Amino acid sequence: MPIYVYQAKETEKGCEYCTEEFEIMQSIKDEALTECPKCSAEIKKIIQPFGFSVGKKHMMTDKNLKKKGFTKLVNEGNGKFRKL
Ligand SMILES: [Zn+2]
Repeated sequence: MPIYVYQAKETEKGCEYCTEEFEIMQSIKDEALTECPKCSAEIKKIIQPFGFSVGKKHMMTDKNLKKKGFTKLVNEGNGKFRKL
């Protein structure tokens, strides 16, 4: 299940829990939360940059990818890919 990050919309109104970003594991089918589960303050979803974005810094290491059951393909050039 994906993990979503939320934070209070108005941090001065939230509790200890939601004034800092917090993570909640939710099904993709679940509605986004609008209230803090602890103090019912309004919260917003923080969009997390996902590991597949192109860049030097990958959030997902090879080890993590394997753990999650992904197969990483390495482009060897000439249209050839190698499975790691
Ligand atoms: Zn709260």
